[in-house]
Amino acid sequence: MDLRSKVLIIGGTGYLGKRLVKASLEQGHETYVLRRPEIGVDIEKIQMLLGFKKQGAKLVIGSFNDHRSLVEAVKQVDVVICAVSGVHIRSHQILIQLKLVDAIKEAGNIKRFLPSEFGTDPARMADAMEPGRVTFDDKMVVRKAIQEAGIPFTYVSANCFAGYMVGGLCQPGHILPSRESVILFGDGNKKSIFVNEDDIATYTIKTIDDPRTLNKTVYIRPPANILSQREIVELWEKLIGKELEKSSLSKQEFLNIMKDQGYAEQVGLTHYYHVFYDGCLTNFEIGDDAEEACALYPDIEYTKVEDYFKQYL
Ligand code: NDP
Repeated sequence: MDLRSKVLIIGGTGYLGKRLVKASLEQGHETYVLRRPEIGVDIEKIQMLLGFKKQGAKLVIGSFNDHRSLVEAVKQVDVVICAVSGVHIRSHQILIQLKLVDAIKEAGNIKRFLPSEFGTDPARMADAMEPGRVTFDDKMVVRKAIQEAGIPFTYVSANCFAGYMVGGLCQPGHILPSRESVILFGDGNKKSIFVNEDDIATYTIKTIDDPRTLNKTVYIRPPANILSQREIVELWEKLIGKELEKSSLSKQEFLNIMKDQGYAEQVGLTHYYHVFYDGCLTNFEIGDDAEEACALYPDIEYTKVEDYFKQYL
């Protein structure tokens, strides 16, 4: 008998969502993907969904505007993973998950729910700055609803997506590495953590049937990828055989630049501030009430930053 849970992925066409679908199929789970009627004639999304179907996923129709449809979708599976958008420069729909929590509560059959988190642990960001704290506050509202409804959960704290941060040498507004120059946050020495998005999806799917991760936060901290911005730059310099010209931005200079930006940009910049000036991803030890993914699943070969960089050569 196959004991692997049936999984429903919501937000499956997204940047992370599509990777979760792939990882779920690869790890042999019966995989369902929500198809929202609202996507209409978005041909890219439709084709992606049809592609998932070709690879063995089942498409389930359901809408956040139709409670019954969500309940019916949820009833077909054991585990729900939500990856709805939560990046202001793209789209931010975190609170829409409250409707999903209602549906999961009513359905009553879900063994595990993984809400759309996958970043900085919001529980550690009670003192975060405006306006970026909205991301953490909204994710905490969803957590509260999950816990009040008594829904079994796992929260995945995935630290920095490599595509955004490694690619741009940690500089806001950049996703490809310069061969000329780089601006460092202060001395560039605060440690951060960088994770390939495909690896985030692999670890996430690993957690869903693991009793050790039930009702816990799982941090993804690949040991070789706990690096400062300066170390990231040095890895790139080694690869291209050239030193970049470096300048530095003090905290105050950064804050001055931030206040002249639009709302969505300010939200993103707040996150950069906490990661690269405060070191918010690494300034704590993981306690007994949480787990670390690379320690739980040592057989997974994660992507090291130096290898991730090779695609940009
Ligand atoms: P995307 O912006 O790619 O969006 C994901 C999906 O959300 C969409 O494809 C869509 O799925 C669904 N969606 C969008 N709008 C709506 C809506 N109005 N109603 C219902 N569903 C909607 O998300 P990301 O992959 O960028 O983000 C996923 C998570 O990862 C978020 O929690 C985010 O905060 C986090 N994140 C973390 C980062 C880090 O560095 N740690 C970086 C980026 C994101 P569909 O149409 O298929 O239903």
